[in-house]
Amino acid sequence: MAVRQPGRPPAFQLLAEDIRTEITSGRLHAGQRLPTEPEMCARTGLSRSTVREALRLLTSQNLVVTTRGVAGGSFVTQPSISQLTDTLSTGLALMFSTSTIAIEQLLEMREILEVPASGLAAQRRTAAQLAKLGTALFDFDTDDVEDMLCKHRVFHSGIAAASGNALCELLSHPLYHIANERAVVATAPASFWPRVDAEHRDILHCVSDGDVLGAQRAARVHIDHLRGVYVPDQAECSDHGAAGDRSYGPRPAR
Ligand SMILES: [Zn+2]
Repeated sequence: MAVRQPGRPPAFQLLAEDIRTEITSGRLHAGQRLPTEPEMCARTGLSRSTVREALRLLTSQNLVVTTRGVAGGSFVTQPSISQLTDTLSTGLALMFSTSTIAIEQLLEMREILEVPASGLAAQRRTAAQLAKLGTALFDFDTDDVEDMLCKHRVFHSGIAAASGNALCELLSHPLYHIANERAVVATAPASFWPRVDAEHRDILHCVSDGDVLGAQRAARVHIDHLRGVYVPDQAECSDHGAAGDRSYGPRPAR
């Protein structure tokens, strides 16, 4: 049995890193079959259990998928936004739960992404995306908190999708899954959900009207409002204009 040098990663990790580099560099492309376990053992001089461990690691990182049967084997995964989002969400949630990322940073990042994304959505949104955004509006009189939190996420993911930039969708989606929002909004003032509803409607109106600057402004007002509730110590001294400066249109009659 080989003696591992102190500080040096185990052999299965090194093998996994080599294969990961082959994949991310494009030398191994999506859908391509990897060499069989015996072939990898012969090429690397590593044991079968080490090769299997490396493949398990790559599978857990969604880089490789293994299928059984005559045509089975290990294949390079076809990348998908939803899979990457899940991976990012898990990593960010962990960093948030261990206080590596603070809520202030999260909101700052949301502002960096969402303000321009809302402007892009006003330029690029499709009819189907507008319709989906409409279904993400909630009714604060009848929906429970869980429904409203869920629709809140769906609304912002919908804006990111309507921006027409897949990277924006990929990077912003995980930000909606890491805050302990349920606990935070439990202490929010009674005006919180009605204001969030009004702000979402304002963003959606601007996006629907193709009003780029209006959509950016409305998105910024919304983030400022969230900041005031999530991080009361930093309650806005911003020159963006407080959410209350605007008179929001009432909800349409139901
Ligand atoms: Zn919102």
